[in-house]
Amino acid sequence: MSKCIFCKIASGEIPSEKIFESDNFFVIKDVNPKVKGHSLVISKKHFENFMELSPELYSEFLETVKGAVEKLGAEAFNLVVNNGEIAGQIIPHLHLHILPRKSDDGFDFGV
Ligand code: AMP
Ligand code: ZN
Repeated sequence: MSKCIFCKIASGEIPSEKIFESDNFFVIKDVNPKVKGHSLVISKKHFENFMELSPELYSEFLETVKGAVEKLGAEAFNLVVNNGEIAGQIIPHLHLHILPRKSDDGFDFGV
């Protein structure tokens, strides 16, 4: 079975610019940004979705999110996980969206 696109990025098969990294996660800019700085926190190992993430990685996952937010210099931000196709998950490999916010960005998060 061919590897998924985020596994290929994790292994370096597809080159990417990692803006932040921890032992088990890396962070890249989204190729189709909804707002300036839109980034993705991605697991190095293949987990199909958020529910598959190993419990021992929960805290490292959140620490990686916080580290990336600091690196981005985002004072305000939305965090989004699309879990499952019905919820808009297109890539079946665990990732979390960081959406840095500005008062005039015109982005309607809608929650
Ligand atoms: P989701 O709907 O949560 O599965 O979101 C997948 C996200 O991955 C989308 O926002 C895409 O723009 C983004 N994406 C897809 N391919 C790449 C890539 N090669 N590099 C960076 N972001 C990507
Ligand atoms: Zn994968």
